Parts: sequence; structure tokens; C-alpha cells
Amino acid sequence: MGWHWVTFFPTLEHIIGHTGVLAHLRQVVASNRPGHAHLFFGPPGVGKATVAAAFIQALFCRNKSGGGESGCGQCPVCRKVAQGNHGDWIPVGMGEGKTRIGVDQVRQLAGFFALTPLEAPWKVATVDDAALMNEAAANALLKTLEEPPPRSLLILVTRQPGKLLPTIRSRCLKTRFARLTPGEVRQILTNLTPLSAATLADAVAAGGGDVGRSLAFSQGELPALRQQFFQEMAALPTSSLGQLSLLAGQWSAPERFALVAVLLKAWLQERLHGTVTHANSLDDRQRAEAWLKVVLWVDGVLRQTVAINLNHRLVLEAVFIRLARLQGADY
Ligand SMILES: [Zn+2]
Repeated sequence: MGWHWVTFFPTLEHIIGHTGVLAHLRQVVASNRPGHAHLFFGPPGVGKATVAAAFIQALFCRNKSGGGESGCGQCPVCRKVAQGNHGDWIPVGMGEGKTRIGVDQVRQLAGFFALTPLEAPWKVATVDDAALMNEAAANALLKTLEEPPPRSLLILVTRQPGKLLPTIRSRCLKTRFARLTPGEVRQILTNLTPLSAATLADAVAAGGGDVGRSLAFSQGELPALRQQFFQEMAALPTSSLGQLSLLAGQWSAPERFALVAVLLKAWLQERLHGTVTHANSLDDRQRAEAWLKVVLWVDGVLRQTVAINLNHRLVLEAVFIRLARLQGADY
């Protein structure tokens, strides 16, 4: 999607977060025995493919830094890996306009692995997202895994390890990635692009731990979505219960819920500000108090939703109904 971070390439020693994973991979680099197959799995947007590339760079670099456990990032080998342009590394992924990784893409690996490495100690292939291989592709990959060619290294990357054949999973060294903390996402975003404090805070919260999503929000998606959401909130009092339920459904998808929480808070703050600054009469003051109560209630509900994993859709329905009533809807 043309994000800035595609061109930003940290070496293994400069990757943010994933402390345990990095300690393990650095040991593997130092040992110079990477094995034949790795499986990197964990939530989307935490940098699994970035870590895979930095791992390959570290294995290939002949001028290692970080105590011999990281690529230097400066030498020609490191630069070729960073540009995705090293002859001993082939990245396999979904083709343009495709929804699965096909057997032809996996079969080309056999030919690739049959060649002698040009300059690196191994021929390396990455498959991302490996769960998107169709059945024929998965079976072809299994053959490669069953009889790994000498000096070959395969790194499978996926957010859905459960969708891989168990026979594929069992042949891989497994590395589990955890979610990034908000602090880590903030640091990564700050390194990637200059942002105002407010945009940064919103983008971090709205991304829900996914760096790619946070970055997209920080690059301008947020204002458009904010406008859409504010329009939807303005239409609440005249919406039917069915429409509210539909709206709740649209915003309750796992990747959207963190975002709607941010937008909801922003909208409520704006409403609260409006009622409090114009609270001249007793009526106005009562209205302001009612809004304040709702703001606190929504805040508590959202926090509980995350803490005890409540049903997103039902929570949003309840919130939308209460907000519609507060603005005069009579259901
Ligand atoms: Zn290097």
C-alpha cells in the first residue's frame, strides 16, 4: 500500500519489541546453524515479516554487528537484503489480484533451492502469509520440507498457524510473536514518520497493536473515518433499532473495534464540551450532567469490553441505543 515503513528496514539489533523472539534469533545467528524451516506466527501488523527479513540479513551479513548477532545494515549484502534484491533470498507471497498462493509459486522453490547459493551460506525462501497456500501448494511445500535441500532455509510467516497442515507445522521451528505494547507501536511510528502528539496518540490507540493499521490511520485515513462516524452518530436519534444494530455490526469487527473506541471517545468529548460550555440554564446544566454520565458509562463499558472480552456487537448496540435515547429517540 505504499507505506513509508516498507522502505524502513531495521537490522535485527534495532527492531523494537519482541525481546524474547529477538534474543532467540540472535542466538541462532551466532550459532550459524539456522536449521531448515522456521514458522513465524502471531497477530497481524506486529512485524513478523520485518523480523524475518532482518533475520535473513543477519545470517547473510559477513560484517556482523551487535556482538556477531545482527546484520550491519551497511555492507552491500545487507543493502541488497534491505532492498529485497538479494539473489539468495526469494520471497513468495500472494500474486497481484490473487486470493491464494498457488502451486506454481511453491514449485519454483524447488528450482531455486537446487541452485548453489551465489554468495550467502544458504538459499532462503520466505512464504507470507503461508496460511494462504491452496491445498496443492501446501502439499508441494510439504515435499520440500520432508526432504530439505542442502543449504536451504524456509521461513513461513502467518497470522493463522492453525490453518497450516499439521505435517507442515510439525517440521518447523516455531517462533511465536506477541502483540506490541502501545508504547512500542508509538516508538515504531515515531521512527517511521513525523507526527503531531495528538495524531500519534489517536493512531496508536485506533490501530489496536497493528503497526500497519496505525500507520495508515496516521497517514490520513483517520480524518475520513472520523467524519463518517460523526455523521453516523448525528443520525442516531432518527435511526431505527434495526439500523442501529446494523451499524453496531459494521463497527464490531475485531480490526475496527479499537478504532471505534477512539472515534466514540472523540465524538463524546466534542458533545460534552458543547453542552458544558453552553450550560446557562438549569435545563442546560441537567443536559450537561446527563452527557457526562454517559461519557463515564461508555468509558467504563469499553474498558470492560476489552478486559473481560464482551461481545463487541452487543456492547456497541447498547451504547448506540443509549446515545440515541439521550438525543431524543423514544425506543
Ligand atoms: Zn552487513
